Amino acid sequence: MSICKRCNRPLKTQMSIDTGYGPICKKKHDEAEEEFLKRQITIDDEIAYREKMKA
Ligand SMILES: [Zn+2]
Repeated sequence: MSICKRCNRPLKTQMSIDTGYGPICKKKHDEAEEEFLKRQITIDDEIAYREKMKA
């Protein structure tokens, strides 16, 4: 039996088993990942800006 990687509850649907998350946790995981990627871009922009100011 597969369990959710986020909340450890049993996964009932094939789609959940395939993704490794229940439908709600999948949504939350995707949102968190999106937020993380947004921050990464922001940090990269910050570094690029600092590099420009140095030159
Ligand atoms: Zn879950």
